[in-house]
Amino acid sequence: MSESSRSALVDAWVRPEVRALKAYHVPPPADVVKLDAMENPWPWPGALTSAWQQALAEVALNRYPDAGATELKQRLRKAMGVPEGAELMLGNGSDELILLVNLLVAGPGRVVLTPAPGFAMYRIIALNSGMAYREVPLGEDFELDEAAMLAALRDAQPAVVYLAYPNNPTGNAFNRETITRIIHEAPGLVVVDEAYYAFARDSFLPEVLEYPNLLVMRTVSKVGLAGLRLGLLVGHPDWLAELEKLRLPYNINALTQASANFALEHRAQLDKSVADIITERGRLAEALATVPGVVRVWPSEANFLTFRVSPGQATAVHQGLQGRGVLIKNLHGSHPQLSDCLRVTVGQPGENARFLEALTDALSA
Ligand code: PMP
Repeated sequence: MSESSRSALVDAWVRPEVRALKAYHVPPPADVVKLDAMENPWPWPGALTSAWQQALAEVALNRYPDAGATELKQRLRKAMGVPEGAELMLGNGSDELILLVNLLVAGPGRVVLTPAPGFAMYRIIALNSGMAYREVPLGEDFELDEAAMLAALRDAQPAVVYLAYPNNPTGNAFNRETITRIIHEAPGLVVVDEAYYAFARDSFLPEVLEYPNLLVMRTVSKVGLAGLRLGLLVGHPDWLAELEKLRLPYNINALTQASANFALEHRAQLDKSVADIITERGRLAEALATVPGVVRVWPSEANFLTFRVSPGQATAVHQGLQGRGVLIKNLHGSHPQLSDCLRVTVGQPGENARFLEALTDALSA
């Protein structure tokens, strides 16, 4: 087949909204101080790693995993405090759960609504699932613009609203009363995405059953298990039973199930590292605010900090940091409200020190 006939076929058959998308780019892991992806910077101690490897050795790879991940779900329900009467569903990362929620409600004219700047995957997955995507600009200091959100609910009648609580990439937790009003006013589902709950002060999980249209989503990615790809969705069984029909069998593989079970048995390790990250976040925020050329550091309830540098500097600073072996996220250009902004994940104390040193150098270069 000739090149031209193949590209004509691609043009003819691939959905135009997919043709228009750019694939999600993840920088290849390199020998750098990696502070770009909101991972927990602490690997497990050697003894724990050995015990985990022994647990994995018992997994029968010739067999399919437990399709319902029964044991893991039971443990997670207890560990998370899933309210009595609520159902729990697991996904291959919360990204998969976003896709399943969209597939549940997708159809011509169906809209995903979310505040912006927000998590990039809400838009990408909305388009993947054939839905229309609409965003509402955040207000001052990245707080929800309640009037604009309520107007957009009336106008767009979204099938699903995503609210990251705390928000990525801004780090703040939106006003709880505003979220409550949005849940009341929304005609369809509201997903409160608590990916950063472990670093935050508040959660909607205990009240998940108090609203007929609320789902609460979490992930183990930020607390130290990003490699497992395990997301969690909690809601009323009426919603979850429908979602269950869309979930592909065995979406949580045997190694993930065994590793997550093991991690829950050794939960103290994860809890300790989360507490350390919260302490380090405070130190890093204070130090960052004193770096010449850093004009703003936003308060964060997540495991990262968003900050602004002098106008026109962000991209050069981002590259300068990379040249000095430190990888963070450049937010400049991703949204008008994020001009001159960068995002750094809280690392180990030594990594944060290297970042601050490299940033000071890059800003004075
Ligand atoms: N929601 C938010 C707000 C996030 O920031 C992220 C990860 N960047 C996710 C969901 C996706 O998490 P997971 O690794 O579970 O797919």
